[in-house]
Amino acid sequence: LMQLYLPLNFLGSVYSSLRNSLVDLEHMFALMDEQADITDSTHALGLPARLDEAPAADIRFEDVHFSYRPDREILRGVSFHVPAGHRVAIVGPTGAGKSTISRLLFRFYDVTAGRILIDGHDIRDYSQAALRGAVGVVPQDTILFNDTIGYNIAYGRLGATQAEVEQAAKLACIHDFIMTLPEGYATRVGERGLKLSGGEKQRVAIARTILKNPRVLLLDEATSALDTRTEQDIQAALHMVAANRTTIIIAHRLSTIVDVDEILVMGQGRILERGTHRALLERGGLYAEMWAIQAEEEAAGT
Ligand code: ATP
Repeated sequence: LMQLYLPLNFLGSVYSSLRNSLVDLEHMFALMDEQADITDSTHALGLPARLDEAPAADIRFEDVHFSYRPDREILRGVSFHVPAGHRVAIVGPTGAGKSTISRLLFRFYDVTAGRILIDGHDIRDYSQAALRGAVGVVPQDTILFNDTIGYNIAYGRLGATQAEVEQAAKLACIHDFIMTLPEGYATRVGERGLKLSGGEKQRVAIARTILKNPRVLLLDEATSALDTRTEQDIQAALHMVAANRTTIIIAHRLSTIVDVDEILVMGQGRILERGTHRALLERGGLYAEMWAIQAEEEAAGT
């Protein structure tokens, strides 16, 4: 029994650290099929997963409250709507609750009060498999499998053909890099293989998501700065993935979200301001202040 217990215990700790950082969700669910405290309802609904099966999804947060622990409320009545195909960005200081919103949408946890709706149904009414099939995540930091780079991309849709994998890699601007590797798509990567840079890993995650073609996209923008050229390439690739897809972006650099449909400015578990970039600048409030500070930092080259 101990032989079984130890690996399970290990998986449990991997699970909780991944759950906290929203790193590589799909990998985690491959390891741990279901989570004990989140269960499917007996009449769980299906949900079309891919954008080629159904139009983009409609997402609604209705007065969502959430606490990880009973003594501290992290979200205190969060409401917003992302109509099909729209892009919404969430900004705010560290600890404001931005990542918590994406964890709730992926149903790592259930809300304490309020509801989250996709296409008009509470996400608790869908099976977890259906929900997670419909939501694609580009995490801040992608953990690669100890496998080939081709497999790491194909994981977005196991069963994809080599041509489809290469097409996704091209769109994510990683194909040319892969062709320079000694064994091309068969090159092993990850802990025991070739180490990829942060930008390369993120492009693998983008290619994976292009293959998955989910109806909802969650982007958790990297906090660590990449060099400007890489950054621009990645932004262009992300822009393309987000096109026509309902997208929620957790943003750290405001310059990447100036053209989204709505920006939500969070603080202390609430949405303090909301609007387009232009409207928020005109308002001259918190967002305008954050914008001025970032502009100054960028000018100073930090
Ligand atoms: P950042 O910009 O630093 O990523 P954030 O706005 O995404 O911050 P969250 O990760 O949503 O912030 O965290 C919100 C609050 O919830 C933080 O105070 C954090 O300490 C707390 N928190 C996050 N995860 C857990 C957890 N698993 N258990 C208890 N508290 C948690």
